[in-house]
Amino acid sequence: MKEYISKYKDTRKKILSYEYFLWLYEWDYATEAPKESNQYSENQFEILYEEAYKLESDEKYIEAIEKLYENIDQLEDEDFKVEIKRVHKGLRMIKKVPKDEYLAYGLLLQQAMPVWVEAKTKNDFSIYAPTLKKIIDANRKLVKYLETDDLKGYDVLLDMYEDGFGIKEYDEFFSVIKEELVPFVLEVTKRKKQKFSRKLTKGKFPVAQQEAFSKYLMEVFEYDQNRAVLKESEHPFTSGVSSFDTRITTHYYEDNLQSSIFSTIHEMGHAIYELQNDLKYEDTFLHGGTSLGIHESQSRMFENMIGRSFAFWERHYPKLVELFPKQLKDTSYVDFYHYINQSKKSLIRIEADELTYSLHVLVRYELEKLMINGKIKVEDLPKKWNSLMTKYVGKRPTNDAEGILQDVHWAHGSIGYFPTYALGSAYAAQIYESMNQDFNVEVAVKNNDIARINAWLKEHVHKYGMSKTPKEILLIATNKPFDPTYYINYLKKKFNQ
Ligand SMILES: [Zn+2]
Repeated sequence: MKEYISKYKDTRKKILSYEYFLWLYEWDYATEAPKESNQYSENQFEILYEEAYKLESDEKYIEAIEKLYENIDQLEDEDFKVEIKRVHKGLRMIKKVPKDEYLAYGLLLQQAMPVWVEAKTKNDFSIYAPTLKKIIDANRKLVKYLETDDLKGYDVLLDMYEDGFGIKEYDEFFSVIKEELVPFVLEVTKRKKQKFSRKLTKGKFPVAQQEAFSKYLMEVFEYDQNRAVLKESEHPFTSGVSSFDTRITTHYYEDNLQSSIFSTIHEMGHAIYELQNDLKYEDTFLHGGTSLGIHESQSRMFENMIGRSFAFWERHYPKLVELFPKQLKDTSYVDFYHYINQSKKSLIRIEADELTYSLHVLVRYELEKLMINGKIKVEDLPKKWNSLMTKYVGKRPTNDAEGILQDVHWAHGSIGYFPTYALGSAYAAQIYESMNQDFNVEVAVKNNDIARINAWLKEHVHKYGMSKTPKEILLIATNKPFDPTYYINYLKKKFNQ
């Protein structure tokens, strides 16, 4: 066993080093690199990428993982056991899918992106349909290779993104959303809309002041600037490698004050999760967030439950007014709170508000289920999309660009990914409620004591890194298995005010 352990750890060290420099490249590419540097840097990237792939597919390394997995009971360290299980699960693709099919699929996805972009730009689904059909067929085949006694069909894909969550779990979750949320949203969105100052809704908000407010937010959330960086990119994201280096981006729009504020807070939620991992996971494959759903629970808790709370703006609105005195002259913090918490039926998921967001996800979940079960023809997808949108969100797209063509995910081959977005919000509500049992979170927010929230999250969620499954994290943090009623109750309370 000793030799396998040292082979494994040796190779891991090298892989992590390659991953670090590949990560650095990608960060630079998205934030700083001058446009014309691409060609040169991509050449360098390719070399490193190939070397990293060689290490990961090295026979001796794979053999070591297999042996360690077969003899897992002999391993003493509990975390190491978990790591080996995770890494072993990751090998499924290489082991079970024929190499030529695996490579052909990679190629297909590479070609799919520009096709999707063209179809979206021209608002023409027929351009994308043949490619999407190939992607769906490839995924249906993939599923067959990877099926187990417990995971069948779409389960296999769902489980890839959220360990332990398959059709059964998601069906239960979404049935609550359908029964409780769909009628509630209809009721809320029918209400008379509050009018807001034109200076707020149509004003100009210079980027320099927005940047100053982002800096202020970094202090408020104690996003440690010795271990973190905030830059600007087209689409906001978080990217980290270590508890000493986790970075975020935001995006500033002169005509939209909200966008950068809530992007920054959202991404800090992701980043602080990884920054607060136990240091013992540095230099292992257990550093990071355990799943997409748990990751999203941290960002959405920051963004919506803390960042869009009344207490937060009661405390921090004066700072915003200081930066934008003219634009916010006629808007009180109460108005501002209502402004940032409006709910309306919308067609585009990424612009949807907190209340309606998961309904957009529900539409995608039902479609993906049909796709992977072979119950729908690709050419019928737009029609089905539109009818599900009408049924659940209450609004019908008038064209495919604002309908089925809006998301890039399927072109990336990510089928089974969307449901984690909704799950994350529901996890967040359950975890928040549990934290609230220990201390009054709103009071902490009002007192600008985010440190207390961060400390609680570190102890109950963050420190575990990837060493626990999502279900285990929920049990640790809340003493209960997943229960979507916390989410429904939270939304009903907030939007019934
Ligand atoms: Zn996120």
